[in-house]
Amino acid sequence: MTENPFFKPSTLVFELPPFAEIRAEHYLPAYERGMAEQLAEIAAITADPQPPTFANTLVALERSGEVLRRVEAVFRNQVSVDTSDVVDEVDAKVSPLLAAHHDAIHLDRALFARIEDLYGRRAELGLDPESLRLLERRHTAFVRSGARLGAAEQERLRELNAELAALATTFQQNVNAATKAAALVLDSADELDGLSADAVAAAAENARVLGHDGKYVLSLRSTSGQPELALLTDRSVRERLLAASLGRAADVNGPIAIRMAGLRAERAGLLGHSTHAAYVVADETAGSVEAVAGLLSRLVEPAVAIARREAAELAQAAAADGIEELAAHDWAYYSEKVRQDSYHVDAAALRPYFELERVLHDGVFFAAGLAYGLSFTERPDLTAYHPDARVFEVAEEDGTRLGLFVGDFHARASKRGGAWMDELVSQSALTGRRAVVMNNLNVPKPAPGEPVLLTWDEVRVLFHEFGHALHGLFSDVRYPLFAGTAVPRDFVEFPSQVNEMWMVRPEVLANYARHHVTGEPLPAELVERMAAAEGFGQGFRTVEYLAATLLDWAWHTLPRGREVADAEEFEARALEEAGIAVPAIPPRYRSAYFQHVFSGGYSAGYYAYIWSEVLDADTVRWFGENGRSVRESGEVFRRELLSRGFSRDPLESFRAVVGRAPETGPLLARRGLA
Ligand SMILES: [Zn+2]
Repeated sequence: MTENPFFKPSTLVFELPPFAEIRAEHYLPAYERGMAEQLAEIAAITADPQPPTFANTLVALERSGEVLRRVEAVFRNQVSVDTSDVVDEVDAKVSPLLAAHHDAIHLDRALFARIEDLYGRRAELGLDPESLRLLERRHTAFVRSGARLGAAEQERLRELNAELAALATTFQQNVNAATKAAALVLDSADELDGLSADAVAAAAENARVLGHDGKYVLSLRSTSGQPELALLTDRSVRERLLAASLGRAADVNGPIAIRMAGLRAERAGLLGHSTHAAYVVADETAGSVEAVAGLLSRLVEPAVAIARREAAELAQAAAADGIEELAAHDWAYYSEKVRQDSYHVDAAALRPYFELERVLHDGVFFAAGLAYGLSFTERPDLTAYHPDARVFEVAEEDGTRLGLFVGDFHARASKRGGAWMDELVSQSALTGRRAVVMNNLNVPKPAPGEPVLLTWDEVRVLFHEFGHALHGLFSDVRYPLFAGTAVPRDFVEFPSQVNEMWMVRPEVLANYARHHVTGEPLPAELVERMAAAEGFGQGFRTVEYLAATLLDWAWHTLPRGREVADAEEFEARALEEAGIAVPAIPPRYRSAYFQHVFSGGYSAGYYAYIWSEVLDADTVRWFGENGRSVRESGEVFRRELLSRGFSRDPLESFRAVVGRAPETGPLLARRGLA
């Protein structure tokens, strides 16, 4: 057997992992060696007879765990983008081991004693601002992880962390399996009436791949809403599709959600906080549960009022079809109808103008050129983890190479739903590394030879995820702990949301939105109608998002020891009590498939999107009104914010760009809530 490729640094450009050499059987041994090596490195730090110094303790800690870092970056990615039974098995084995490993470091009394000692003398150490911040952040992380607890409490903490890690993995695997199993199988093409010929062909092909030859299969997206609901004319098919989506994993994951919420509340109590939400938010830019609850409660009432007005309008349209009561499975369908009637915008008519390659090169990359002077060269010679994943080299205006961007845009059975950014390599001056970042989308693959035509929403997602990619690529920090997107959850969506503005900037839109056959630009009147229609459906979008947010919030503001008997009942009551229960609008995610909060890192953190949007809307206004050119504005935004990562207080970075603290006015105006 050849040597495990994780045991030594990659020799590829920017240390791109050597994917061609990596096999599933390399993961477990690499994890085992990676964890053992890091513990040995830490033992060497604590055994050092010299008194603790910043270099022999903090810097040594930053440098530790190289093998683990390498395998973790590749494996985390593999789990998301191309999983298999073998990979799932490794994941289930490794999750509790990793939780125990992190506890072994954070609960190491000798290590914490050195950090505590340095922290106590931090003013006398003569540290530069980023180094001082490293010491403070590490100290905070150790305290928040239980470093100051007594032995019995630490023992309980280890048990809680191990069980939570295992449950999170099971939850995720249940969602994957249930989402596949809940795909809607239909016998005849008639039932798909309303879908395009391409979509019907794709459903037939999907059926063939899944072993339902001669039938049609609609696979589910990760959210409650499914895109086909806007188009299917057969009401009973819509009803079955939405029911399949909403009922996913309820039986297996409801009890897990209850158990996890209970364990998290207990852990928060051990760590000195009243609830899990209080524990989480204390280390976010929001700072307190009151701040979060305050913003959310300001939004609920106006959002629900708008949604009720929308519902009345849609109910009228539905009544014309003999529907007496507008149901959740009717909303998207009549919304699309009313949108077409009122704004004459046909979502399907736009798609020919949004061909993936064009949107990517002449839209997303083009905007990055305008604002930041970047250029992109595809490197087909570099192999990523899957044939669909493409590698691009990113260069500065003066030709200096900045890093690598990996784009993986298509859906496949082995990939989880949604869209996200991730890093394979993080920038750090200490390690001399530049960033290797990835964007993942789930655009359905067309038949061979057919162009990839995006929806308006998919174009937005492409710009959004690329905003995260830029945050990673522009990172210019010394310590890996602060690299790029390693900022608080309620800040990290801000740069990505800001990047969405380029999608509709006239000079960018004109450059990419061209008909894929004729090359004609998107007609100006269509653009105007799109812009006018943007506000339509804002009530629905805000309510479905807030409902999911308040659900997350309800689970994680449960006091310690409060018993929940039934997840669905809890969910219904939580939405009712938060004043966000609109009968025809289900939350964007229901508890049983709310991966962000039960298997991702967003527990008590789903509020982050709207919290970040306050900064986003404020910054977009700044871009338009600051009197500088686009290029100059881009440079300020990059220098003062994107490049800083977490190496300084993120709100200080915001103030350095905009010149003052954030204001909520622009967000409320944008969402029609003012
Ligand atoms: Zn995002």
